[in-house]
Amino acid sequence: MKRVYMDNAATTALRRDVLDAMMPYLTDIYGNPSSLHYFGQEAHKAVENARHQVASALNAEDNEIVFTGCGTEADNMALKGIAEKYQSKGKHIITSSVEHHAILHTCEYLEKHGFEVTYLPVDEYGMVKAEQVRDAIRSDTILVSIMFANNEVGTIMPIKEIGAVCREKGVFFHTDAVQAVGHVAIDVKAMNIDLLSLSAHKLHGPKGVGALYIRKGIVVPPLLHGGAQERRKRAGTENVAGIVGLGKAIEIACSDIEGTSKRMCYLRDKLINGIEASIPEVKLNGHRTERLPGNVNFSIKYIEGESILLMLDINGIAASSGSACTSGSLDPSHVLLAMGMPHETAHGSLRLTLGDDTTEDDIDYVLEVLPEIVVKLRKMSPLYHG
Ligand SMILES: *Cc1c(COP(=O)(O)O)cnc(C)c1O
Repeated sequence: MKRVYMDNAATTALRRDVLDAMMPYLTDIYGNPSSLHYFGQEAHKAVENARHQVASALNAEDNEIVFTGCGTEADNMALKGIAEKYQSKGKHIITSSVEHHAILHTCEYLEKHGFEVTYLPVDEYGMVKAEQVRDAIRSDTILVSIMFANNEVGTIMPIKEIGAVCREKGVFFHTDAVQAVGHVAIDVKAMNIDLLSLSAHKLHGPKGVGALYIRKGIVVPPLLHGGAQERRKRAGTENVAGIVGLGKAIEIACSDIEGTSKRMCYLRDKLINGIEASIPEVKLNGHRTERLPGNVNFSIKYIEGESILLMLDINGIAASSGSACTSGSLDPSHVLLAMGMPHETAHGSLRLTLGDDTTEDDIDYVLEVLPEIVVKLRKMSPLYHG
């Protein structure tokens, strides 16, 4: 059966050339980077080379990069670290209502520990405006954390403008850029970003490795205490092969970000236009142009997102829905709700996310299969009278 993977926002395939770069560190070069002998020093060199690759991709300095165990850890480290270190300046944090749970649940944790969090609302496209951030900053605000691009609807936030406001007001600015790094050009200096989280497995690298960029001069205490790894910012023996994979993946992804983005936007728009042309009563979620190159997200009226997913899966297409399945009960997407969508419709969205390996043939296959599925499901829907 033909199989089409369109869930690249959940995770991506490890590139073959990234695996090739990692392989020596899973086999012959197994030393601990902290060891002084040949095996250790070769591993150490590889970690430092990867640090340079990550820093270069962001226009940062090598010593501004800390490797972590995942994007979630980078988010936790940024928020908890800044809260702990700078709480004498104030205990107010600003974020958005459409963040990933790695941010939202960390904020809830901080609220339990005496911090106050403002969750900025978003417009119908899922966007936060820089002026909203400016209006929300108070004298006791220490941190603003706004995601670079949304993982459900793909909306890209006005990061440069938000960064400028934060710098002007003297408030630290963190961005969860897990969905954006390797897909959208990022320059931490030009964008006034103080802290940035990223994760390898969202850009065709391995799972279980991420990084936090911390601008020079900002102190972020460690989450993990122990050895002196990562300049005492993250104890624990380094995931050498994973770090090498992250470095290689980010280098490849950023070597031709414009070319890849152009190709992906073409495929994305073909899919969006094709769905709109062949299926009545659908609504594109997120912004039409300020959008990740690989993200397509639709609400398809009268049917449940989950039933479409099952039918797509039977036909070999891996997609996901905007709603998260929590302990058996189906919660509507907090992102779609924040965008003003009614509860009923927030259940029924379909997310198709493309990757480097997506072909035009894949798009054509989805456009062949999906409309038929929708017709079938609508015929069975008690809500549909079309
Ligand atoms: C995937 C994702 C994360 C979490 O990254 P992990 O490496 O899986 O922990 C955080 N934020 C966003 C926006 C994501 O898409």
